[in-house]
Amino acid sequence: MIRAENLRYVYKSSSGDKVALDDINFSIDDGEFVAIIGTNGSGKSTLAKQFNALLIPTDGKIFIDGLDTSDEKNLWHVREKVGMVFQNPDSEIVAAIVEDDVAFGLENLGIEPDKIRERVDLALDSVNMSDYKKFAPSKLSGGQKQRIAIAGVIAMNTKIIVFDEPTAMLDPMGRREILSLVKKLHTQGKTIIYITHFMEEATAAQRVFVMEGGRIILDETPREIFTNVKEMRRLGFDAPVAVELAERLRKKFKLPPKILTADELAEALK
Ligand code: ADP
Ligand code: MG
Repeated sequence: MIRAENLRYVYKSSSGDKVALDDINFSIDDGEFVAIIGTNGSGKSTLAKQFNALLIPTDGKIFIDGLDTSDEKNLWHVREKVGMVFQNPDSEIVAAIVEDDVAFGLENLGIEPDKIRERVDLALDSVNMSDYKKFAPSKLSGGQKQRIAIAGVIAMNTKIIVFDEPTAMLDPMGRREILSLVKKLHTQGKTIIYITHFMEEATAAQRVFVMEGGRIILDETPREIFTNVKEMRRLGFDAPVAVELAERLRKKFKLPPKILTADELAEALK
C-alpha cells in the first residue's frame, strides 16, 4: 500500500522557490491501477519521483508499505519495491547489448550470474523481446527500447511500477504495445501508477488522479472523470474519442449515459 499525507514539494533555486506539489493526500492499495493526468507543469513527474525516493517531500510524507521514503535507511527497501519507467527510453538504456541492459539492476544487487541470466530471459520473454537479446539497443525502435526498459524493471521484480509518460515519444503501434504490456503487468498483480497525456490510455485504469497546479483535484473512476465532458473541457483535456462521439450522437439518438469506450458505444447503437 502507498500512502501520501499532506505531501508538499518545493524546488528551491536562486531565482526563487517553485511549489510543485501541494497538499497531496491519497492511498493506493496493492494491485491497483491508477492513471495520472494533468496539463504540462501540473506536477505529475515531480509526484512520480516521490514514489521511489528520487525526490523526498519538502513537507509531509509518502509511505511505501509503511516505509517512510524520507528516512534514509529505507532508501534501498523502497527501491526494491518501486520500479520506474520514464518517457525517453534513450536516457534509460545504459548497456551496449540488450541482455546486459536488462541485467544491469540485478548485477548491482550482487545476484549470482546463473540467476541473473534466468531472470533476464524471463523478463525479455514477457515483453516479447527474446529474439533481440544480443542486439545493440541503438538498433531498436523507440517502442522496442521502451520494452527493454520495462524488462529491466520486470527483472527487478518490484511490486509497484511507476510509468511517467512511457508512450509520449512512440508511434501509435508502439503505444498500443506498451499499454497492453502495462495491462498484463496489472493482471499479474503489480500495482501500476501510469502517467499519460493520452486520455484513451487512462481509461484502462481503475482510478484516475487529475492534477492541476501541484494538487490532485479529482480522484475518481475513469468513467466518472471522462464522461463529464464539460469538466474535461474546462480543465483543457479532450475527452476520449468514444465519449466525444457519444456526446454528438446523443443529439440524434437516445443513448445510455456515461458511455466510455468504443465497444460500449457500438453496443448501445445496436
Ligand atoms: P509535469 O510532469 O506535470 O509536466 P513537473 O512535475 O515536471 O510537471 O513540474 C511541476 C512544476 O515544477 C513546473 O512548474 C515545473 O516548471 C517545475 N519544475 C520541474 N522541475 C523543476 C526543477 N528541476 N527546478 C525548478 N522547477 C522545476
Ligand atoms: Mg512530466
